[in-house]
Amino acid sequence: MLRLAPLMAALALSAAAQPADLLLVNGNVHTLDPARPHATAIAVRGGRIAYVGDAAGAEKFRPEAKRVIDLGGATVVPGLNDAHLHLEGIGARELLFDLEGTKSIAELREKLAARVRDAAPKKWIVGRGWIETHWPEKRFPTRQDLDAVAPDHPVALTRADGHAVVANSLALRLGGVDRTTPSPSGGEILHDAGGEPTGMLVDNAMRLVLRLVPEPTPQEVEQHLIVGAQREARLGWTAVQNAGNSFEDSELLRRLIAEGKVKIRVYDAMSGSDGSGRKLLAAGPVIGESGGRFTRRGVKFYIDGALGSRGAALLAPYADYPQSTGLLMQEEAKFMPFLLDALRAGIQIGTHAIGDRGNRTLLDWYEKAFAAVPAAERRVAQPRWRVEHAQILAPDDIPRFARLGVIASMQPSHAIGDLYFAPSRLGKGRLAGAYAWQSLLQSGALIASGSDAPVERGEPMIEFYAAVARRGLGGFADENWHLDQRMTRGQALRAMTLDAAYAAFEEEERGSIEAGKWADLTVLSADIMAIPEAEILKTRCLYTLVGGEVVHEAK
Ligand SMILES: [Zn+2]
Repeated sequence: MLRLAPLMAALALSAAAQPADLLLVNGNVHTLDPARPHATAIAVRGGRIAYVGDAAGAEKFRPEAKRVIDLGGATVVPGLNDAHLHLEGIGARELLFDLEGTKSIAELREKLAARVRDAAPKKWIVGRGWIETHWPEKRFPTRQDLDAVAPDHPVALTRADGHAVVANSLALRLGGVDRTTPSPSGGEILHDAGGEPTGMLVDNAMRLVLRLVPEPTPQEVEQHLIVGAQREARLGWTAVQNAGNSFEDSELLRRLIAEGKVKIRVYDAMSGSDGSGRKLLAAGPVIGESGGRFTRRGVKFYIDGALGSRGAALLAPYADYPQSTGLLMQEEAKFMPFLLDALRAGIQIGTHAIGDRGNRTLLDWYEKAFAAVPAAERRVAQPRWRVEHAQILAPDDIPRFARLGVIASMQPSHAIGDLYFAPSRLGKGRLAGAYAWQSLLQSGALIASGSDAPVERGEPMIEFYAAVARRGLGGFADENWHLDQRMTRGQALRAMTLDAAYAAFEEEERGSIEAGKWADLTVLSADIMAIPEAEILKTRCLYTLVGGEVVHEAK
């Protein structure tokens, strides 16, 4: 069992001798500590919380405090923790060709044409972020759409969910994709009525062209990580959990954190598909390095695709595509040995599972692995394995999460993005087990919430709103959209703080505002536990504190 508690107690003792670094007064503090749910003042010493309570009790820290912040009634919550995102992708989105918010194929073409004008001859043009479900054209983009404005540059534009790409004719030719190319296992090359590839490549077919795109240089990756982490701090995220990193990029991130260039906490999971997971098994976990800011102890796998591109593995065919039940991307014989090794080595597994067949198969495999390696043979008795997304569940599978001690790592914003097309993909009957937050919580399961940025915007107020409103940003929800599955505000806050910390084995170190824990705090412009739902989206982050250090302060 890996435990930090003795170390924490020792640090708290040595910190007690130091003067307070920081005193926060006049706040509206939601602590998530059942013994003291509400407070108005917090004192910080040696990066940890030395005092939580009322103004009178805080006064004794005032003479010694290096800085006193009068919050003027602003709301303080435990430092927000995004339990599933892709940090490098967030930075890349900030710096590269961002197609987020593109409203039509016509606009996609305009943006691409502008990009071509600035591009060096023959250079790859790579973008991300389009979603066709809102477009007036009501179809996927095609290679012809791209060829019309970009005939001479290879182009690959990834859908926002990362599970499909549209390529132009030149990119397809370079990738060796023509009418005779078979779809790879776990992927699909879409064809038009004449049998020619349309340019759309789904899941495992994406790599036919994406493998040709030059990898970003280490300097570029470094820039993406720094810019991505700065954005996260600005939005109020104090900690993020990276869902699938390469071992090399993880080492780079580890160095950036050690050098203080990345200030937020990162819990890093290695990618299971490129050998990085094996490297972690061999090297062993890294826990709480750089003052608890860097941990590497997870591996991320995929078992199926996504719902939007109809790659999610379903038990029954798609309602709007009856010839398909989606794609399973793992084979038990290849996957199981890794699971057994991971249990013995104390490595956490998190596996992307969207469809009800994907989820059931994964829970079956986890259950088998737990039975094969009993607790006494595990380095960590409670391995806290995770299902990433857990989007569409057969009702019988919902109680299995609590029973197996498997965490549902879910993204509220997926539910309010998918509500526009999930009903047509799934039909009414299956919606009962879709994004079934309340059913999971009532069954005793733990939900760690995250944003999956850059698949979604990655804004904490959008995630919180999505969890409690379960409606589109404008208030839309279909009559069949099971509003009874909404989270309460208390549940939603817990899922993005204390329970997200639990998913990273860090609930004793952060996730609530209690003396002895790290002073990871998010200060908000409004009381999200009380204001009307629509105002949640207008709420801004005023301060972000990581270990008592102010890493963002609104001007
Ligand atoms: Zn993801």
